[in-house]
Amino acid sequence: MSETLHPTDLYQLDASLTESQRAIAARVRAFVDGEVLPCIAEYHDREEVPRHLLPGLARLNILPILLDEKPDYIAYGLAMRELERGSSTLRSVFSVQGGLVLHAINKFGSNEQRARWLQPLATLDSLACFALTEPHFGSNPSGMETRAEKTAGGYRINGHKRWATNGTAAEVALVWAKLDERVCGFLIETNRPGMDMRPIKGKISFRTSETAELILNNVELPETALLPGARSLGGAMSCLNQARYSIAWGTIGAAQACLDETISYLKERFQFDNKPLASHQLIQHKLAWMAADLTTMQLMALRLGELKCAGQEQPAQVSLAKMHNCRKAIEIARTCRELLGAHGILTANHVMRRMVDLETVLTYEGTEHIHTLIVGSELTGIKAFS
Ligand SMILES: Cc1cc2nc3c(=O)[nH]c(=O)nc-3n(C[C@H](O)[C@H](O)[C@H](O)COP(=O)(O)OP(=O)(O)OC[C@H]3O[C@@H](n4cnc5c(N)ncnc54)[C@H](O)[C@@H]3O)c2cc1C
Repeated sequence: MSETLHPTDLYQLDASLTESQRAIAARVRAFVDGEVLPCIAEYHDREEVPRHLLPGLARLNILPILLDEKPDYIAYGLAMRELERGSSTLRSVFSVQGGLVLHAINKFGSNEQRARWLQPLATLDSLACFALTEPHFGSNPSGMETRAEKTAGGYRINGHKRWATNGTAAEVALVWAKLDERVCGFLIETNRPGMDMRPIKGKISFRTSETAELILNNVELPETALLPGARSLGGAMSCLNQARYSIAWGTIGAAQACLDETISYLKERFQFDNKPLASHQLIQHKLAWMAADLTTMQLMALRLGELKCAGQEQPAQVSLAKMHNCRKAIEIARTCRELLGAHGILTANHVMRRMVDLETVLTYEGTEHIHTLIVGSELTGIKAFS
């Protein structure tokens, strides 16, 4: 084996990073190794959220990157990659807080909303959730039933949202509702009368995430709750593209961790003629294909990051990376689980926990089907959905 090639960075992409990009990746990696991996399996088993990790996550200073005048999206992507080595659920805290809510307020908010929320959200002093999905409208949010109506002092909202990540811990919810048939965003403190946030329990995937259902019953809001710059579903979609970008990077971390752990195991596990499993041809064949898939994931994310830093990324490019990297990550996790044999089903060995969490990642922020339709529409010029 070559001295210089790392099994999960065969094209030496990390060598092309800047010092500061490498520094943030190392900082997040150290936190994940020291604080997350030693405890996350137990929290997963208990279906409990490791809230004690939040202060340490805040000190990593990841979200302020997004508020820079010219954000280094590659540095941000690397942070997402390293977080998801630990858990897709922790990466999701950031994708929702940063890509969805912080982005929405920064892009569509009033000066007053920016002054009130950007800082506490960037430092994780306040948590936020993004409530778009409803019980009857997931892939097709344009059908949403949640309604806002104008009142003398502001707005009144009624509706039902489901699957909001960070929901039960959130101080503020960005709720999407129709006002005169136009989809608008409202920033709502979760302790307002009429807001009922209920935990969704019994999940097999995302057991360490605070997933909530929101019932909005005659919630009265001031004028200042409305995001003035978002007056169509396009506003919500622009936020989703930010979060999808972080998924394209995060899934690399999950896949790298599965592959790293599996290669180590295969070198130490002896079967047939007292030879390590890693020496068998069928096993090496599987490892080589996983390395190829991982490398395409890395190349795609890095190029997307370059386009994003240049302000040139297109929604179809983000969809392609989200759809491809989720699919490849889950395939790698499943193959690694298989190669670990019985050992692979234990939560303590992380691979199967990553695999079941990736089932959510494949589904949220636009399912794989929906992203294929976005890419298909780009390829053909024909929209297969409305
Ligand atoms: C743990 C978790 C966290 C989440 N966090 C959030 C959050 O923070 N905020 C939020 O708003 N939402 C969140 N979601 C919701 C998520 O975005 C939705 O689950 C997703 O958009 C899919 O919607 P659905 O589950 O209703 O599936 P459906 O829309 O009912 O789709 C079911 C299946 O049909 C397929 N399908 C649908 N339409 C088509 C079509 N036209 N052609 C082909 N196939 C199609 C889908 O791809 C899918 O495979 C979360 C979900 C989970 C599981």
